[in-house]
Amino acid sequence: MQDQVLDEAKRQLAVCNACRYCEGFCSAFKAMTRYRAFDTETVIHMSNLCHNCQACYHSCQYTVPHEFELNLPSALANVRVESWESHVPFPVLSKLFQSSPLVSLVSVVVVSILFWLVAGIPWLAADTFYDLISHSVLVLIFGPLFLAPLLILFVGLGRYWKTVNGERITRQQLADAFRAAANLKNLDGGAGQGCNYEKDDRYSQSRRWAHQATMYGFLLCFASTSIATVMHYGFGLVAPYPLMSLPKLFGVTGGILLTLGTSKLIYLKTKANPLLEASSRRGSDYGFVTLLWFVSTSGLLLYWAGGTTIAGTLLILHLASIACLFVSIPFSKMVHGFFRITALIREAQLQRT
Ligand code: SF4
Ligand code: SF4
Repeated sequence: MQDQVLDEAKRQLAVCNACRYCEGFCSAFKAMTRYRAFDTETVIHMSNLCHNCQACYHSCQYTVPHEFELNLPSALANVRVESWESHVPFPVLSKLFQSSPLVSLVSVVVVSILFWLVAGIPWLAADTFYDLISHSVLVLIFGPLFLAPLLILFVGLGRYWKTVNGERITRQQLADAFRAAANLKNLDGGAGQGCNYEKDDRYSQSRRWAHQATMYGFLLCFASTSIATVMHYGFGLVAPYPLMSLPKLFGVTGGILLTLGTSKLIYLKTKANPLLEASSRRGSDYGFVTLLWFVSTSGLLLYWAGGTTIAGTLLILHLASIACLFVSIPFSKMVHGFFRITALIREAQLQRT
C-alpha cells in the first residue's frame, strides 16, 4: 500500500479526531472515538467501515479552500481500494479489473465468442441452457469458475483479518454485523436522513434503497440458482421450471430488483462528485455495476424471449456475463461487500470489548 495514501488518511483522521463534529454519522466515526492516534491497521479498518456517504465532507468547515483541505470520503476510499488490492492474491488482476470499464465489456465479448465456439451448434434455435450446452459441460465450466475466485477471495479476507488483528468470531458479533449490513445502517447519515451522495448536496435515501435492491436482488438470484441445483441433483427435477416454482419466483423477483437497483446506482454515479471518491476508479465502478445490470437484464430478457429466435444469442451473452462476474468477484468492486462485512464483524468485536 502506498505510504502517501496512508499518510494522507492519517493526517485527515487526526484533524477529525480533534474536531469530532461528525461523530454520530457512521460507524467509521464511532470507531474513531476509541483512538488517540491512528496506526496503519486502524486506518485500514476504518476505511472499510466507510460507505462513502459523503455526509462528513458536506458538513466540514475544513474543506478547500481551508488550508487543512479535508476530504475524508476520498482519503478513506483511496485506502480502502488499496487494502483490497494488497490483500487479495494476484494484485495484477485487481489492478486490471479496477483500471477501466472496458475490461468487463471486453471480457463478456471474448467469453461469448468462446461459448459460441464451444457450443458449436445452431444456437439461434436454443431455448434452454441444455439445448445450448449440456448440463455436464455447464458444470465443468462454471464449477471451477465459481469456486476458484471464491477461494482467492477467502485467502484475501483471511489476510485482511490478520492485518486488522481479528479474533475468534462469536455468533453475537456475526448477528451485529449482518444486522448492520442488512439494513445498510451506515448509509442513513446517522439520524436517518440519508446521505449527501448527489452533487446538489441534499439528503437522500436513493443510494441506500438502490444498494438494498441490488443486494437483495443478487441474493435472491443466488438462492434461485442454489435451489435449482438441489432440485436437479437431489430430486431429479430438471429445468426449465414453471413460473410458480421457487427457482423461477426467486430468479424473476431477484432479476427485477437487481436491474432496478443497478440502473439507479448507475444514474446516481453520474450525479456524484468524482473528487469525493477513490482517485481514478470511477470507470471501473461503472464497469462493475454495468456488468451486474447486464447479468440481471439479460436473464429477464431470456425469460421473456424463451422459444424465440433470439433466445440462443441471449443465452450466450447471459452465460458469458455470469462467467465474467464470477471470475471478477475477488478483483472488481464486487469485493467491497465482502470486505465491508468483515470490517463490520471486526467492529462488532471491538465495540463489545
Ligand atoms: S469531517 Fe470536518 S467537520 Fe467532520 S469531524 Fe472531520 S474535521 Fe470535523
Ligand atoms: S463518507 Fe460517510 S461513511 Fe464515510 S466517513 Fe464520512 S460520514 Fe462516514
